[in-house]
Amino acid sequence: MFLAGSAAATMGAAASLGRGRAATLDGKALIAVTLDLEMSRHYPRRGMMEWDYEKGNLDAATKNYAVEAGRLVKERGGLIHFFCVGRVLEQPDVGWLKGLVATGHKVGNHTYDHVNVKAKTPAEAQFRFARAPWLVQGKTVERIIRENIETTTIAMQERLGIAPDGFRTPGGFFNGLDDRPDLQTMLLGLGFPWVSSKYPAHLRGKEKERPTPDVFASIVSAQAQAQPYLYPTGLVEVPMNPISDVTAFRSTFWKLDYFLDAIRMAVERAIANRATFDFLAHPSCLVVEDPHFETIKLICELADKAGDRAAIVGLDAFAQRAHMRGKA
Ligand SMILES: [Zn+2]
Repeated sequence: MFLAGSAAATMGAAASLGRGRAATLDGKALIAVTLDLEMSRHYPRRGMMEWDYEKGNLDAATKNYAVEAGRLVKERGGLIHFFCVGRVLEQPDVGWLKGLVATGHKVGNHTYDHVNVKAKTPAEAQFRFARAPWLVQGKTVERIIRENIETTTIAMQERLGIAPDGFRTPGGFFNGLDDRPDLQTMLLGLGFPWVSSKYPAHLRGKEKERPTPDVFASIVSAQAQAQPYLYPTGLVEVPMNPISDVTAFRSTFWKLDYFLDAIRMAVERAIANRATFDFLAHPSCLVVEDPHFETIKLICELADKAGDRAAIVGLDAFAQRAHMRGKA
């Protein structure tokens, strides 16, 4: 029974990977701008840690940044793939997010409370559950994770009127879900044909210092480890491509110039190789570190300059390509 159900879920999830645009994207580099809708610790100021307990309680500046980013990318012929923490949808006004959906941007599921899907104990799954263990009393970690994902899907249907377009794990894992076929099967069973969970290892250099050439070289070479692939279960992995905003700015105190240099090199490498590049950032971080949208504008410019060698698309298009190549 279990095997039959799981195979049916796999086929259903695979079938829901659209095939329409495959031909038009053939031979192009695929570029995505992905923004995770959550608050980030140490923003808008260093020492601000309370967001760990309320990741989805977005402040006005973060929402405004997301909306303006959507406008800018749309104006340049692309779209943004957002990932929404379910708690966002408890806020009284979600008109800003509905507006983004209405103009063609995509929204995936990022769990309700920003849980660590590889947690071994309930307390490890989320700071909130360590502080308020009664919220998950008597539940296994597996059940907590599953419910956190399911509830987000329900909230998206109720408040946005859409099904989630893909799933991204909170936090990235160097090995994606390679070591967790149980999680792969869970996601397929919950209707997700693809997951974005892998963030490959790379050098970061010293804090507050201009990255040395070996740091940039490490980031560029990590791009090869951040290409979509098919897990044995049939789930598709769509990695995040280094370097992320929080790794650069929060963890390593980079200046915007360093970040722009690294992103330019990584995108140019993707275009030269007709590979994929999934830009991972957070409006709650960028609104402080890149208030004039320079990074997003740079990515759009590079894609535009590449003409028919590149396209800005959602991560579903990455997954579709990997699925077709994996089956071939
Ligand atoms: Zn996140």
